[in-house]
Amino acid sequence: MPRASYPYAAPVSQELFDRAAAVTPGGVNSPVRAFRAVGGTPRFMVSGRGPYLTDADGREYVDLVCSWGPMILGHARPEVIEAVQAAVARGTSFGTPGEGEVALAEAMVARIEPLDQVRLVSSGTEATMSAIRLARGFTGRAKVVKFAGCYHGHVDALLVAAGSGVATFGLPDTPGVTGAQAGDTVVLPYNDIEAVRQAFAAHPGEIACVITEASPGNMGVVPPRDGFNAELKRLCSEAGALYISDEVMTGFRVGRAGWYGIDGVRPDLMTFGKVMGGGFPAAAFGGRADVMALLAPAGPVYQAGTLSGNPVATAAGLAQLRLLDEAAYATVDAVSAEIRGLVTEALTKEGVAHRVQVAGNMFSVFFTDQEVRDFDDAKRQEAYRFTGFFHSMLAQGVYLPPSAFESWFVSTAHDERAVARIAAALPAAARAAAEAHA
Ligand code: PLP
Repeated sequence: MPRASYPYAAPVSQELFDRAAAVTPGGVNSPVRAFRAVGGTPRFMVSGRGPYLTDADGREYVDLVCSWGPMILGHARPEVIEAVQAAVARGTSFGTPGEGEVALAEAMVARIEPLDQVRLVSSGTEATMSAIRLARGFTGRAKVVKFAGCYHGHVDALLVAAGSGVATFGLPDTPGVTGAQAGDTVVLPYNDIEAVRQAFAAHPGEIACVITEASPGNMGVVPPRDGFNAELKRLCSEAGALYISDEVMTGFRVGRAGWYGIDGVRPDLMTFGKVMGGGFPAAAFGGRADVMALLAPAGPVYQAGTLSGNPVATAAGLAQLRLLDEAAYATVDAVSAEIRGLVTEALTKEGVAHRVQVAGNMFSVFFTDQEVRDFDDAKRQEAYRFTGFFHSMLAQGVYLPPSAFESWFVSTAHDERAVARIAAALPAAARAAAEAHA
């Protein structure tokens, strides 16, 4: 494994990365963790507390990734840890129904009005995969519309490249996905309602569902234009297709009722993950009772999981949801606004073209002076500036997502001290961004 050329060494992480690369492809269990977009040695973390992570070399970082969203209360929040410890002490998996999964489902249904019923699974990928199967089963149709730049997990049918223009038939984005798996996927540019209209016109009676991130965070933060989701829903209803809102990232993060709580557009089906698992593998899909009624064993559409509704994961998720009241969201929103202000100030001072785009308390920094409305816009940013910015922040003890195309995440635990550390790191990082070359 080549050594990183970055001046600050992380010898223990590097040693672990070398060991990992021998036994795991690319040395990681999820690609973005490998730092390929920014270079250097991925930090192997050994512990987290509140807003901080500590790596294997003993360095502490203010964490602005929060496990890619789930850790909205910070790391090792005592109430969540206690709930987990109590659950673990009772046994870790039974393969039977249990009260914890009922309580978690009840908590979700109580918060999100369009959820009549939910089915628990173990990852966001499973949630979207199952929701699409259910939509196809319900409508008896094959085609799925998705948007370029929206990520819904590594579901074969959804790992499809963006086609430019209107209603492009998807070509597989990765070896291993066959034309047959991707051929029923229609990829459209995000925020382009006319493209959606044309797709419905081109495929009358064939589209089972439109799946969209409720507010995309996987091409950086690119919120829907005013009325976009509402019109999507209307077009789906008109055509007899289901509107699936993927809230794996936004659900229980941008507010008590997720993005639905912000835009009020009522999906037929929704998907969840991340926050609802409290840092454990728990996810879900749910929605209209008449659609969910088709799911086995109530109905014929098969879906199952050995660890679905796992008692430890549901205990963690429930403990986390119980702590997420309006005051908690107000705190996260305020921290997010403060950090956004600091980033803007630092980059402006150095004359670096940038746009901070926001969806609730999620945000990302694009190195461009243009509004980013879709994936093509996102790709036009000067991503090389992010590399300099990222490594400067890392060297100063602030852990950002290692890619210019990701949301930053904050938590209730990001207190004044943590924010002060970010503020202190930003001027040098902004200078590094200004001095970066393509
Ligand atoms: N959907 C969205 C919007 C996501 O952001 C993600 C993961 O980042 C997924 C689905 C897939 O979730 P998981 O990684 O738990 O499979």
